[in-house]
Amino acid sequence: MAKLTRFGRTILPGMLIIAFVLVAPFRATGGEVSTDPATLKRLVSEAYNKFKDLKEGKPADYIPELAKVPPDLFGVVIVTAKGEIYTAGDVDHAFSIQSVSKPFTAALVMQEQGSQSILEKIGVEPTGLKFNSILATQILPQVSVNPLVNSGAIAAVSMVKAKTAAERFNKILDFEDRLAGAKLKVIEDVYKSEAATNQRNRAHGYILFVSDRIYSDPMEAVDVYTRQCAIGVTAKQLAVMGATLANNGVNPITKARVIDARHVPKVLALMMMAGFYNESGLWAYTAGLPAKTGVGGGIVAVVPGKMSIVGFSPRVNDAGNSVRSAKAIEYIAEQLGANVFGSGR
Ligand code: GLN
Repeated sequence: MAKLTRFGRTILPGMLIIAFVLVAPFRATGGEVSTDPATLKRLVSEAYNKFKDLKEGKPADYIPELAKVPPDLFGVVIVTAKGEIYTAGDVDHAFSIQSVSKPFTAALVMQEQGSQSILEKIGVEPTGLKFNSILATQILPQVSVNPLVNSGAIAAVSMVKAKTAAERFNKILDFEDRLAGAKLKVIEDVYKSEAATNQRNRAHGYILFVSDRIYSDPMEAVDVYTRQCAIGVTAKQLAVMGATLANNGVNPITKARVIDARHVPKVLALMMMAGFYNESGLWAYTAGLPAKTGVGGGIVAVVPGKMSIVGFSPRVNDAGNSVRSAKAIEYIAEQLGANVFGSGR
C-alpha cells in the first residue's frame, strides 16, 4: 500500500511528464494546423527549394501562346485567413489564370442565383475524364457535368446575368478583382491565341446548346469564357483569392465580403471533387485539400479557416496540372497536417 502510494505520488507523475515530452513533437500533425509565422515562412522556402530543379512536364502548347511562357518560373505562396503573406520565388509574375477561374465564376453564379442553381442547371459530379472531354459532355444529357470542367464552366459563364457579352465579362472581372484585392487585366496575347484555337470549346458550346444546357448565346459564352481564362494573376494575387475562400468569403486583405459564407463550402466541395480533373481522386488521396488547377501553371489550394497555399510553375502533366505547384502544395500540406480528412484537426 505504502509502495503504491509512493508510486502514485512520485513515480507516476514523473513517468507522465517523460511520456508527454516524448510525444509533444508529434502532436502538431494531429492538432490544429499551425499558422505560426516562422513555420509558414520556413515551409514556403523549403517547398520552393525542394522542387525548384524538378523539370517534369511541359508548358501547355495547345494554346500556342502558353508554350512561350518561360518554363522555369516557379513561385510558392501562403496567405493566411488573417492576411499574412509568405512567399518564395516568382510570385509577382502575371500568368493566365485559365481554369483556376472556374470555381470563382461558379461562386459568382451562386451569389446571383443561389447554390441550388448550379446543382439544377449545371451539375456537380466529377467526370474522371479530361477537362475538355466531349464524351463527358455527351454522356450526361441532363447537366453540363460540373462547373470546373470546360463545358460546365462555359455554362456557368452563360448563367451570369447580363444583357451583353461585355457586361457579363466585366461582372466576372470585377468579382475576381474583389477576390484578389487588385485590378486584374486580361493578357491579350493569350486571349487572342486561345480564341483562334478554341474550336473544341465551341463544340462544347454547341452540344450544350442543342441539349438546352446553355443560358446565353453559346458562342458568346465561349468567347467570354476564353477571356476569363486569359485574365492575368500573380501567384500572390491568386493566393489572396484562395485566402478569401479560406476566410469564409471575406478578403483578408481588403476586409470586404465577396462571397456569402453559406456558399463557401459549396465552392470548396466542387474543388475537392473536380479541381484536379481526372487526377482529383489522386489529389484527394495524397494532399486532401480542396484545390483548383489551370493549364497556365497555377494551383490554389484552400485549408478552410486557415490559409490558401498557391504554386505557380508552367510545366504541366498530361492532366493539365502543374507538376511543381502540386508537389510544393502537397509538401506544405503534409508538413502542416492540413489534410481536411485528418481527424485530429
Ligand atoms: N482555357 C483553357 C481551356 O479551355 C482552360 C483549361 C485549363 O486550364 N485546364 O482549354
